[in-house]
Amino acid sequence: MNTKLTRRRLQQLAIALPAPLALAALGHRTAGIAFAQSDDATATAEATAVGTPVLAPTPTCGDDDDFDVTLEQTEGPYYTPNTPERTSLLEDGITGTKLTVTGYVYSTDCQPIDKALIDFWHADDAGVYDNEGFRLRGHQFTDEDGRYDLETIVPGVYTGRTRHIHLKVQAPDQPVLTTQLYFPDEPENESDGIFDPSLVIDLVDDGVKGKLGFFTFVLDIA
Ligand code: FE
Repeated sequence: MNTKLTRRRLQQLAIALPAPLALAALGHRTAGIAFAQSDDATATAEATAVGTPVLAPTPTCGDDDDFDVTLEQTEGPYYTPNTPERTSLLEDGITGTKLTVTGYVYSTDCQPIDKALIDFWHADDAGVYDNEGFRLRGHQFTDEDGRYDLETIVPGVYTGRTRHIHLKVQAPDQPVLTTQLYFPDEPENESDGIFDPSLVIDLVDDGVKGKLGFFTFVLDIA
């Protein structure tokens, strides 16, 4: 009973550990949890190395660990509508540290949201937004497991703000949630009045191929 884990934690374990270790860590909560196809450490490492992080499929919902709704935040001055649909924002001329952010979109009653729209935008490596075109801007839709994958670079900082990624997320025919994602251990987090620790990406890898992070969004719909 002392191994109570939230689903968010389950997912972190699943992504951070080879499956056998994750299963061991889950203890009594393993019932009802099925892991993705990689059932050995090698497969997990390979999948991560080629940029396809292995996540647990949608966990079974209990009634003792409901999610908290993702915090809404300001849109800021640099949103551009009608972005291209794409999961990778990488293109010629973009420099910086590669970053993959992946995770799920859920409702508060633990249901994965299929075809949720997520529209991302952020500054370049130098902290500058493209306000004329769509560089480092793009939208995508979650799959039937509620999963999204974003391939991009780590944004630069700019005056007054810590490192962050803006986004809008919307379940079909539901209100838009506008918010921002942050990075752990950033010195500017403390002085940024908008920063909130509940919106920090869980960075689980910092390898030669770039950073890999995880974040689950929870929308206030049931
Ligand atoms: Fe910004």
